[in-house]
Amino acid sequence: NPKIGVLAIQGDFDAHATALREAGADAVLVRRSEELAGVDGLVIPGGESTTFLKFLERDGFLGALQAFVAEKPTFGTCAGCILLAKEVLHPAQQSLGVLDATVERNAYGRQIDSAIYTARTALPGGPLEMVYIRAPRITKTGKGVTVLAERDGFPVLVEQGHLMAATFHPELSADRRVHQRFVDLVRQSLR
Ligand code: GLN
Repeated sequence: NPKIGVLAIQGDFDAHATALREAGADAVLVRRSEELAGVDGLVIPGGESTTFLKFLERDGFLGALQAFVAEKPTFGTCAGCILLAKEVLHPAQQSLGVLDATVERNAYGRQIDSAIYTARTALPGGPLEMVYIRAPRITKTGKGVTVLAERDGFPVLVEQGHLMAATFHPELSADRRVHQRFVDLVRQSLR
């Protein structure tokens, strides 16, 4: 099985680890930058992207993570998607800058910020349930980015080479197709 790390400094990393195991991967929690060397792929979970950044700025973790996401399969969900994006707005914020996309934080406002939708997806198997929690919005994507699902005309699940990102929380639904897609991506990278 591919060995996939879940960045476990903040947010709902346990649910991701469970989802990855259900999708056929060996999931391990990554808490120190040295642990990145032992994994074939990485999930950056939801949480609060500013809190992630504060933590990562300590002890060289940010540099190690930047090197990792530049070439190894990485899947960012919600705050993780914000961290991967090249441009972050509302407010502007530092990021890892690898996903060719512009992301607006907390784009759905206070009242309707958290919701469950079911929408069409390019993933095989019919409509997909999507759990949104203070979700960001992908407002722009570059040419190399494939959109796998949308909400109100904006991308919510995207792929770019070895990267995947979702503005929702696939780990909170029972459907494992999204994690399965990422596990397959990691498998392909090992061939
Ligand atoms: N609002 C959070 C942020 O801006 C993301 C929310 C989430 O990850 N559920 O970082």
